[in-house]
Amino acid sequence: MPLHDKFGRPITDLRLSITDRCNYKCVYCRTGNEGALYGDLAFDDYLRMVRVLVGMGITKIRLTGGEPLLRKGVVEFVRELAKLKAQGLKPHSKDGASGAAEAAPFQIGEGQKKRVTRRSAPRNDNDFGGARDVPLTDFGADPLDIALTTNGHVLAQLARPLRDAGLTRVTVSMDAVDPDRFARITRVPGGFDHVLAGIRAARRVGLWPLKVNCVLMRGFNEDQIIPFGMFAREEGVIVRFIEFMPLEEDRVWSPATVVTLDEILARMAEYRPLVEIPHGRSETARRYRFDDGIGEIGIIAPVSHPFCGHCSRIRITSDGKIRTCLFSVWDHDLYAVMRRGASDEELAEFMRSVVQKKEERHHIGEPDFVPASRTMVHIGG
Ligand code: SF4
Repeated sequence: MPLHDKFGRPITDLRLSITDRCNYKCVYCRTGNEGALYGDLAFDDYLRMVRVLVGMGITKIRLTGGEPLLRKGVVEFVRELAKLKAQGLKPHSKDGASGAAEAAPFQIGEGQKKRVTRRSAPRNDNDFGGARDVPLTDFGADPLDIALTTNGHVLAQLARPLRDAGLTRVTVSMDAVDPDRFARITRVPGGFDHVLAGIRAARRVGLWPLKVNCVLMRGFNEDQIIPFGMFAREEGVIVRFIEFMPLEEDRVWSPATVVTLDEILARMAEYRPLVEIPHGRSETARRYRFDDGIGEIGIIAPVSHPFCGHCSRIRITSDGKIRTCLFSVWDHDLYAVMRRGASDEELAEFMRSVVQKKEERHHIGEPDFVPASRTMVHIGG
C-alpha cells in the first residue's frame, strides 16, 4: 500500500539530513555557540532507509543538513540513490503542475491500468477536498527526483561531480546579494564570492531548476527584496523568499519579525509587475514571473499562507529519526529499529505506523503553539 497519512495525503517527498554540522552560523538559524548535536549515520544506513521508502511511493528525495556538502562521500551517495527507481504510478497531469505528490504509488501487474479514487481540487490550502477518479500511468523506469539544499560555500567544486552522479537539481540558501550584509547574516567572512561561484557552476553544469532561497527577517534583510529580483533576472535563477519560521536556536522569532507574502509582493511590484504562475498543489512555493517574462521568483509563506493541506513530506534526521512535520514535537527512532535487526518489511511497517501519526498542520502564531522539539539545523529543511 502506498504511504498516506490519516488525512489522505500521499507522502511522496523525503527530506533526508545527512549531517547537522554546518560551516555557517546564520543569525536566523543558529546561536553560533553550538555545534553539531546529533551526529551522522553511515551512508549505507541512509540508503537502506531510502530504498524501503522508495518502495512505498517516495518519488522525490532532498538531501539537507546542516550543510550536506560537508559530508565526505556525498557524491558516491548520490550515485547510489540515482540507481533507485520510482515505484508505482503517477497521475496524468492536466495543468502541467508537477503533481508527483498526488500520485498513489502501488505495485500493479505489467500493462494493468488502475483507477484510484483521488481528492478533488481543494478550495484552499487547508481544505482536504472530496474524492474523485484520477487516471494513472506507471512510473515505469522513472528516475528518482534527487535534489539537494546547500549554503553553496563548496558547491563550485562539487557541482560537476554531483551532476554526473545523478543529482537533478540544487537549492542554494543565500540571504543577501550584498557581500557585507551576507557576511553579517552568515557570520562567516568572505562567503559571498564562494556562494556566487557555486551558483554559477551549478547553472553551467545543468543542475535545474536552480533555486536560491532567501529567508527574510525584518530588520535584517527585507531591503534585499528588489536586489534579489534583479539577481534572479541577471543570473537566470529562481529566487524564493521564505517567511521566517520559529525554528531558530535562540528562539528570537515573533510575528513582528516575519516579512509576509503580501509585503514581498508589494515591495517587488515597486520594481516590476509580477504575473502568478500555476503551481502543483504540494509545492511549497507560490510562483511569479516578471511581466516581461524575464526572471521568476517564488514565495514560501508558511506563516501567512500555510500549505499544510497538501503536505507530502516526511523527514529523516541525520541520526536516523523520522519527523512527520517540521514543527513536530516527536522524533520516531527508525535507526533504533534498524539496529535491532528489523527486516525491510518490519522497517516498512514502522514507517507506515509513524506516518499515521503525521500532524494535520502547524500552529504557528496560535495560542497553543508549542515550539518544535528540534531547531532547523538539527532537522534539515
Ligand atoms: S508545517 Fe508540517 S504539515 Fe505543514 S507543510 Fe510543513 S511539514 Fe507539512
